[in-house]
Amino acid sequence: MRVVLLGTAAGGGFPQWNCACALCAAARDGKLPSRTQDCVAVTGNARDWWLLNASPDVRVQVAATTALRPGPGPRDTPVRGVLLTDAEPHHATGLTALRGAADLKVYAPRPVLAALAPARAVLDRYAPWQWADSLADGGFVLAGGLVVTARPVGDRPPAYVPPSRRPDDRWTVAYRVEDLATGGAFVYAPRVAAWTPALDDLLETADCAVLDGTFFDADDADDAGTGQLPVTGPGGSLAALARHPGVRRIYTHLDHTNPLLDPDSTARAPVSGAGAEVLMDGAGFVV
Ligand SMILES: [Zn+2]
Repeated sequence: MRVVLLGTAAGGGFPQWNCACALCAAARDGKLPSRTQDCVAVTGNARDWWLLNASPDVRVQVAATTALRPGPGPRDTPVRGVLLTDAEPHHATGLTALRGAADLKVYAPRPVLAALAPARAVLDRYAPWQWADSLADGGFVLAGGLVVTARPVGDRPPAYVPPSRRPDDRWTVAYRVEDLATGGAFVYAPRVAAWTPALDDLLETADCAVLDGTFFDADDADDAGTGQLPVTGPGGSLAALARHPGVRRIYTHLDHTNPLLDPDSTARAPVSGAGAEVLMDGAGFVV
């Protein structure tokens, strides 16, 4: 199974268009590498590719990735569909850039499918897509020999969902993608509210994890108020990952405030010391 990190920043990207913080300014000045918003591509056979989330940057992300080039027919694309982890705008609005694609299949938990109903009605007018519940019992199989299991990892709905439609505990999921031919498996969880036994279960038999690196510590997470688990600290993901020593661990979805964006920051030491990685947009690897 091949995995490509198309984008590695949290919502807004890095730098954020309207932010003058020191890190964003450094990226704008070319002193730090810019990053597009979180999105991953995965394939089991190098012909059928699946996107994990569809960021507003997906058009440039696909264009920058040789394996995702259209062809051989004039409207052929190797992109078969999208697996959404949540309904946040920076993960879902990229679907509009894919409008008109034939036979696209989109998987998401039910509350996410419901929240996206207006957008789905628009997109289906360009080409009818298939929309499926990613938390359906038994998981699901993707073209190219991949089998997927989803588990809830957060209950916070996006801000645009009216309070009357919010009650549900499955707004955010993690995906475990396994290559049926090789047995290689990776877990994708870019937004984690709390480390749960379900996440441990997914990681138990995984080779690699691409995880929520939004906030470096609890103070950053508290300031943002998005209810996401920080990287460091006693309740952070780095400590939880210690229970899975054989799993390659990669942080993504980096917020523009995260000092890990700077390769020379002292913040990198505890992360790399624990064997975790921060990779660039476009990084590819085999699982
Ligand atoms: Zn900033």
